[in-house]
Amino acid sequence: MNIETSVESDLLINTVRRFVETEMFPHEEEVDRLGHVPEEIGRRIEAKSKELGLYACNLPEEVGGGGLGIAQMALIEREYGKTSHALQSWAARPTELLMACDAEQRERYLLPAVRGEKRELFALTEPDAGSDVMGMKTNARQDGEDWILNGSKHFISGPCMPDFAIVFAATGVDETPRGPRKRVTAFLVDVGMAGFDCREGTRCVSYRGYKTFELHFDNVRLGPEQILGEEGRGLELSGKWLGMGRIWVGATCCGKAERILNMATDWAATRKQFGKPIGTFQATGFRLADGAINLRAADLLVNDAVARAEKGVMSDADAAMVKVFCAEMLGKIADDAVQIFGGMGLMEEMPIQRFWRDSRLERIWDGTSEIQRHIITRSILRPLGV
Ligand SMILES: Cc1cc2nc3c(=O)[nH]c(=O)nc-3n(C[C@H](O)[C@H](O)[C@H](O)COP(=O)(O)OP(=O)(O)OC[C@H]3O[C@@H](n4cnc5c(N)ncnc54)[C@H](O)[C@@H]3O)c2cc1C
Repeated sequence: MNIETSVESDLLINTVRRFVETEMFPHEEEVDRLGHVPEEIGRRIEAKSKELGLYACNLPEEVGGGGLGIAQMALIEREYGKTSHALQSWAARPTELLMACDAEQRERYLLPAVRGEKRELFALTEPDAGSDVMGMKTNARQDGEDWILNGSKHFISGPCMPDFAIVFAATGVDETPRGPRKRVTAFLVDVGMAGFDCREGTRCVSYRGYKTFELHFDNVRLGPEQILGEEGRGLELSGKWLGMGRIWVGATCCGKAERILNMATDWAATRKQFGKPIGTFQATGFRLADGAINLRAADLLVNDAVARAEKGVMSDADAAMVKVFCAEMLGKIADDAVQIFGGMGLMEEMPIQRFWRDSRLERIWDGTSEIQRHIITRSILRPLGV
């Protein structure tokens, strides 16, 4: 990924690569076929990641995490990207949003999440509010010191049934120079609280075995101590998470694209038609060449964003460029790989169709390609007053 590698980063890459290849690759086909990760496989990945110091490696050492920096996390996400989210998400990297916990919340949520005793969900999307986050209907109204939460969320994903969710809800309306705007607050809501129904949702054909949940809130009473960060500042919190999340998606896409390209290359070198390996036909060889060019460009874009983030100057548009380019690069490589495999590319006995299905999600979650382009367009036009 980076030609200026260090001994430390090589060691890190090799550790994660070995972990992914030995503990995850062998289970991919079974998990896809079953549509779930057998408990013992998930728990083994979880335990092994703790043993390797990879569990919660994204969070600071002061809270018990691995204390890895942005560049190291990008290398790790690239390796994890080579396998299914259903498996690699058992080696949890709890959301950095939990660093906003106050002293009491640290004991109840952050530290147990770092130790692997609790799992969280990040709950923003709703049935009628996907790309249009401000269309959210989930709301919390004040009742004395408490808040009463109502509404629902869907497509909220995780490897297994969670212990709590970070739920975004409208808690009022602010007057701004651009007109009225919903105040959004993040709440920590425990699974099992009265009025909170958390159940498995519709099954997704990308990353089969990675679960999505539906969350329903019916007059859930929350004390002020359940607010994460400040009241009315929930979107700023989530914005911070989504920005870095888009870089991790970019790195993930590069890892997956590399694996797909390797499989397509092997096939193009060995499958013969008209007495020759199909890779020698320009139409096939050029697909491999274009894939290699685009993967190189995507890796460079990730590296550039990582450098900006490390300097504290990464903008929303920088993150959006990474997300849209890497996800579309992966989509093209996966589709070209199916073409190179011909009919075999669509057969269940071959892994290519699974990678093709898995790749499709990357253009949708964490903000669709269209929404990323909106963010980039806004950054171009806004300085001109448009
Ligand atoms: C497997 C999976 C896991 C997920 N995990 C989570 C999670 O953990 N937490 C969470 O909060 N969310 C999660 N999501 C939700 C995900 O982020 C949303 O699906 C995504 O943001 C798109 O929202 P939507 O599906 O409602 O599509 P819609 O917003 O309905 O969009 C449909 C289409 O319309 C286009 N569109 C919408 N508005 C515009 C516009 N203004 N201009 C141009 N085009 C537009 C979109 O780009 C898209 O092509 C997950 C989704 C999936 C599928």
